[in-house]
Amino acid sequence: MSDVLDQITPDESTDAPKPAETAHWRREDRGGRITLWLDCEGTGTNVISEAVLRELDTLLDEAKQAQPDVLVIRSAKPGGFAAGADIDGFADLRGEGAVEMLKQGHAVLDKLAALPFPTVAVVHGATLGGGFELALACDHRIGVDGVKLGFPEIQLGLHPGLGGTFRLTRLIDPVAAMQMMLTGKSAHDRKAKKLGILDALVPERHVDAAIDAAAKGKLTHDNGGFKATALRTRAARSLAANRMRSESEKQAPRAHFPAPFALIDLWQDHGGDPQRMQSAEIASFAELLDSTTAQNLIRVFFLRRRLKSGAGEDDGIAHVHVIGAGAMGAEIAAWSAMQGKRVTIEDVKLAPLGDTIRRAAKIYEKKHLSGIDARDALDRLMPDPDGLGRARADLVIEAAPEKAELKESIYAELTNVMKPGAILATNTSSLRLADLVDAAPDPALFAGQHFFNPVSSMPLVEVVSHDLASDATLDRLAAFTAGIDRLPARVADYPGFLVNRVLAPYMMEAMVMLDEGHDKVAIDRAALAFGMPMGPVSLADQVGLDICLEVAGSLNAGLDVPVAETPEWLVKKVEAGETGKKAGKGLYDYGSEKPPKEPADRPDPAIIDRLILPMCNAAVECLRKGVVADAETADAAVIFGTGFAPFRGGPLHYAKVRGDVQEVLARLEKQHGPRFAPDPGWGDFG
Ligand code: NAD
Repeated sequence: MSDVLDQITPDESTDAPKPAETAHWRREDRGGRITLWLDCEGTGTNVISEAVLRELDTLLDEAKQAQPDVLVIRSAKPGGFAAGADIDGFADLRGEGAVEMLKQGHAVLDKLAALPFPTVAVVHGATLGGGFELALACDHRIGVDGVKLGFPEIQLGLHPGLGGTFRLTRLIDPVAAMQMMLTGKSAHDRKAKKLGILDALVPERHVDAAIDAAAKGKLTHDNGGFKATALRTRAARSLAANRMRSESEKQAPRAHFPAPFALIDLWQDHGGDPQRMQSAEIASFAELLDSTTAQNLIRVFFLRRRLKSGAGEDDGIAHVHVIGAGAMGAEIAAWSAMQGKRVTIEDVKLAPLGDTIRRAAKIYEKKHLSGIDARDALDRLMPDPDGLGRARADLVIEAAPEKAELKESIYAELTNVMKPGAILATNTSSLRLADLVDAAPDPALFAGQHFFNPVSSMPLVEVVSHDLASDATLDRLAAFTAGIDRLPARVADYPGFLVNRVLAPYMMEAMVMLDEGHDKVAIDRAALAFGMPMGPVSLADQVGLDICLEVAGSLNAGLDVPVAETPEWLVKKVEAGETGKKAGKGLYDYGSEKPPKEPADRPDPAIIDRLILPMCNAAVECLRKGVVADAETADAAVIFGTGFAPFRGGPLHYAKVRGDVQEVLARLEKQHGPRFAPDPGWGDFG
């Protein structure tokens, strides 16, 4: 699309004032149409920053003077319309400063909304947050196939702040609009059209004709129909709002997660009056921005960016060969192919190779790939029963069962077969690389690439070093990870690496509590109330009790201070085949019981401390031992690898803010034993 822009020569034939100099927008005048192309300087992705809005303000004044037949706003970036507001621009703003900036932004979008000629946003790709709000301020929205519109603000502990709350609830069924804002879920092309967000959904080649239709008033939308009208009364909104509140309460309590409740209040109180809702939106957004929750979630946003940007770009990896097409190998292969890599995959059995293709097709559907993109990804993913890819790949990922001898025999077969310079990475989760490296064809080109299950929804990958791995190998693996849209965290070879080392005590302590007679549902619900995505009892079942035993065993063999001892009944359970969810029975009986999803109203703080503080302690230990370079990477890896309550900012950030973790651990040590002993690293950590 940028190529098209480069060919555009502005219309200089009139006496009109010279268009403003802009860094982020380009103006194109053709016939009676003015098109404002958003093309943020120095980046591949548009974000709606203060500068973008300031320039737009000037361009709108010019457009008003020019009186075109139609004003079109679209993006010059091939990837999408705009990824959202510029978070760097408002993260540090507080109180009056935030209100002032929001008011200025609103004034620009109000100016756009009030123009006396038709305005059209042509949206493609990601059209999120502030980008979506910009499109909502236009009279019409034309979507290009594949467009995705949504408000992810809730994930930052915020709600839309640039007019989204009152514009979307006026445009479509307000309940559907609220759902979008409360869940942060995007509406993909056809869904967005059906909801009435888009007036037209067309392939790129029909955009021009659709703009003409909009200019002539031939594109209409139905303003949310009967439901929208009915919900203009406060009484009707109150009913719907109460339902939304109880749904939100099930996800997280108001005290920890105020944004959904602020949004519901906003709509209930002012949903019938857009002007009031607009001022209330500004005040509410500014207040949320001040909350600890939003500040921690914004921090998590920056941590994600840090993990990603810390990786180089050049991985030199075009072809990946995966060995072992089980739960992990299949997903790694499918995901890498979806991200543009050429992938071959082998297994000792044929059936897993067929399953890999079926699983890939499912992942591509779930990720909303277009038919053509899914077909291309499947073309890149080649079952390779004879292992021909071993000699051609730039990266071989071994995802065979967790048995050292088996992995070593696979490595032996790769020696003198892999091409020079190719990397061998293992997906092992509990074996030490130091024990495997001797079997690797080239120790410098060997490292860990620890994906989490399922790869398609777990963003983190631990890139695991060992004494003999070369920096170039680790750099390339980190770049490869970022290149396939996962987040690389560099960690050292340590029992459980970083993430499992930190997570294991969470589950193992729950086993001890069960042994003491605590109720499993109460344990799980207390953890949910802290903000964990899954209680430790359910998580152990999900991971598999057999795997938990294995992990606990290997951790205890390698750590200075062991995690909780495994109760005898747990071993017996596993021997009896009750290995968790996959067996239909583990700590829960999946025939008759459902693990709780709702957080406890009044959780027992003692349970929470016993589950969470050992995670903080383990994170400090990893920091002290150099398993991870710094506290920020540790927090980020634990959040993205385990789902650790993001609004707490990570285990180390939580400990720092709370301030008394070391003392409480010392108390717990006295009560329950040495597994709680505060790590010597607390002194340095502070
Ligand atoms: P799995 O048992 O589901 O799959 C292993 C596959 O390897 C099977 O299809 C098997 O037929 C195949 N295989 C066995 N021997 C082989 C050989 N010599 N050559 C080629 N293929 C062979 O195992 P998984 O859960 O996918 O785990 C694979 C690796 O990933 C393990 O090291 C495990 O620790 C690690 N891991 C697993 C998870 C998880 O949650 N499952 C998470 C992270 C890492």
